[in-house]
Amino acid sequence: MNKARCEFLSKSVNEGFARNVAAAFLLQYDPTVEFMADVKTAVSEAATNAVVHGYREKSGTVIMELSEKDGVFSVTVEDYGCGIDDVKQAMQPLFTTHADEERSGMGFTVMEMFMDTVEVTSKREVGTKIVMTKKLG
Ligand code: ATP
Ligand code: MG
Repeated sequence: MNKARCEFLSKSVNEGFARNVAAAFLLQYDPTVEFMADVKTAVSEAATNAVVHGYREKSGTVIMELSEKDGVFSVTVEDYGCGIDDVKQAMQPLFTTHADEERSGMGFTVMEMFMDTVEVTSKREVGTKIVMTKKLG
């Protein structure tokens, strides 16, 4: 069992920071290039959502937790922003509340494609937590 945690401000430059931190954690487990690319893609989507949707124009804190247990990698991305009214609807392919801003509504779909499990819990004006897992090896 291993665990790491990082906290960053909701700035778009930190989307790249988050994916690189996840990659650095993963490197310890000798992942395949494909595994690494999948996780980085999923983490980018989750971090971008926290910055772009969770906090909008505001500054806030995003927490990312990484862990490995019994050969399963897990990553949690949490924000304390506006929250999601209807999680089921938000997770539908092509659903977006910001079509005007070049959003395609595919973030959650991408996370589900590249990870084994994706769980979303969210509460309006409280925040959003995404937990994703993927089996190593
Ligand atoms: P894309 O990811 O393709 O650029 P998108 O971000 O709109 O577009 P998803 O990532 O699938 O698509 O998210 C769907 C919708 O869920 C968003 O439009 C937004 O309304 C809501 N959402 C997602 N993450 C959050 C979050 N952390 N806080 C608040 N709302 C969110
Ligand atoms: Mg998105």
